Amino acid sequence: MQLEIALDGTAVVLLGDADAARQAILRYRRAGADLAHFDSPAALHAAGALPARPGLVAVVRSSDTHDDGEWAPVLDRYRAAKVPIAREPAAGRRGRVTLVGGGPGSPGLLTADAIEALRDADVVLFDRLAPWRELGRLTTAELVDVGKLPGHHKVPQAEINRLLVDYAQTGAGGRGLNVVRLKGGDPFVFGRGAEEMAACMAAGVPVRLVSGISSSIAVPAAAGIPVTHREMSHSFTVISGHAPLTPEEHTHLAGLGATGGTLVVLMGIANLPHLAAGLRRAGLPLGTPLAVVERGHQAGQRTTVTSLARAEADTAGCANPAVIVIGDVVRAASALGANADGRGLRELADALAGA
Ligand code: SAH
Repeated sequence: MQLEIALDGTAVVLLGDADAARQAILRYRRAGADLAHFDSPAALHAAGALPARPGLVAVVRSSDTHDDGEWAPVLDRYRAAKVPIAREPAAGRRGRVTLVGGGPGSPGLLTADAIEALRDADVVLFDRLAPWRELGRLTTAELVDVGKLPGHHKVPQAEINRLLVDYAQTGAGGRGLNVVRLKGGDPFVFGRGAEEMAACMAAGVPVRLVSGISSSIAVPAAAGIPVTHREMSHSFTVISGHAPLTPEEHTHLAGLGATGGTLVVLMGIANLPHLAAGLRRAGLPLGTPLAVVERGHQAGQRTTVTSLARAEADTAGCANPAVIVIGDVVRAASALGANADGRGLRELADALAGA
């Protein structure tokens, strides 16, 4: 988290090892502090007397230390002078990568671990499904948009893998950086997180995972649709609709749907007509409810509810990013009345009856 305080020229004394303090320095500068940094008590003494009563003293220490260590005598003197003392977390270790799930796009759905990882990062590689608009508030790291190159092309996966390793190993003039790879939802759900992790491990770069809230659950929920329900569905299957499914796959899914399982389809908008036709051919009842939730947890969220019979016609105007939910749980949606195409509840009920 950045400093939620405007320091506007306030004199701040920052105490801590230069490497551990590298992000705290950026945070205080960004907040407008008039900063004096000392990386050891010796450096402070060499500078002569304690800087005259600063507005704030900040001391950097890693989260596993509980005492003020070498800074204790200095801090005691500031305390005696009634100068407020803030504690700042140490920067993240260099030379490693953290894969962070950013959730479906709302900053409120970042985990506490995700916020910490962002705060401690030197560089963040993000794509557009992650809550990237808020990054400036959450980190002082350099931001690299790998959803888009300067020439507006998506960065190929192999290139992203290479960038992660390069930044970690050779960034900052060979000292290495603490790298965060921020992805939409959860990195291990259609996120190629395993490939990025393997690339880091193969290069000998320490890598860890911070799980995120997956859109496969949270986006239906944003429209009031529970993926399971005690009386309606005891399972849910998350499918990628990116590539057209085979007839065998349609049969398998129709079987799951017919026994009350919920089908959740990601990346499925382009292939929705193919999917709906395939599920009908495979015998999934025409009246099976189907919902498309676009831009879940984001501005412009929209839910369209229809049935398997009318899916193509009723969802023709839907666009990515969207999650498709097929199954009885759609009836449980508490947001049915909020259908943005303006149809009333009666028409929705008709649609769900498979008319
Ligand atoms: N790892 C991600 C999924 C990546 S695949 C996760 O766990 O959520 C990308 C697909 O996720 C999109 O095509 C869309 O189907 C879905 N998606 C992600 N964020 C979404 C959002 N805010 N609203 C609707 N769909 C979203």
